[in-house]
Amino acid sequence: LASRMFHPDDTVVTVGEHRIGGGNVVVIAGPCAVESEEQLMTIARIVKDYGAHMLRGGAYKPRTSPYSFQGMGEDGLKLLKKAKEETGMPIVTEVMCLDTFDVVAEYTDILQIGARNMQNFALLKKAGKCQMPVLLKRGLSATIEEFLMSAEYIMSEGNPNVILCERGIRTFETYTRNTLDLSAVPLIKELSHLPIIVDPSHATGKWSMVEPLSRAAIAVGADGLIIEVHHQPELALSDGAQSLKPEKFGKLMHAVQKISASI
Ligand code: PEP
Ligand code: MN
Repeated sequence: LASRMFHPDDTVVTVGEHRIGGGNVVVIAGPCAVESEEQLMTIARIVKDYGAHMLRGGAYKPRTSPYSFQGMGEDGLKLLKKAKEETGMPIVTEVMCLDTFDVVAEYTDILQIGARNMQNFALLKKAGKCQMPVLLKRGLSATIEEFLMSAEYIMSEGNPNVILCERGIRTFETYTRNTLDLSAVPLIKELSHLPIIVDPSHATGKWSMVEPLSRAAIAVGADGLIIEVHHQPELALSDGAQSLKPEKFGKLMHAVQKISASI
């Protein structure tokens, strides 16, 4: 179902007035985690002003340490809804497990399945049983074949609305958090009709690399970007080091718009 062989035309996933795939560039931006009303509303207004199309923000966070901030849960979802009401931006937030699936689905426009859950087959099947758009992130050490097979799990249950996301993979390199595999973009375009976006924030773990790799991602044919932005990265409860300050995000938007207009 995910293969280009059986479906030659690009899939376009519609979210409100936005279309992901088929040559559009969609930018999803916002904090790693929803931390408070003030934080989320501030960041939502900023990214909207700079031209972001959708708002990201985790309410349930898959943290490496159980002692780190785990997210605001349903209170965070309520804040995302409020930010959507004010800005009009659709919401992208992660669904981590079956227990919280229904509550997340009630609030969000796109269900994000995180890298750590790319092979949570029960979760993939559950996401396949609804018709909501699913943003499926590549697993930490997943091959392209495994990545596409996870998309196949969702599609084989009846949901064709899958958006893939390259977010870097584990390699021997330690300067960056992960290694961004940009070859995944043209490769997936050959193998599949599904849209693919790039997450340079989690791929690098370093804010200074986010803009250059965003430019590269668009140049190589990505259908969009998902970018972490924080107005006070030094105070962020998660992923501050990779979060762009507002002006830097504005600069990124400008650069990306120029590149996408020229290709
Ligand atoms: C995220 O986007 O918030 C996230 C946790 O990303 P990943 O699953 O790619 O690590
Ligand atoms: Mn993050």
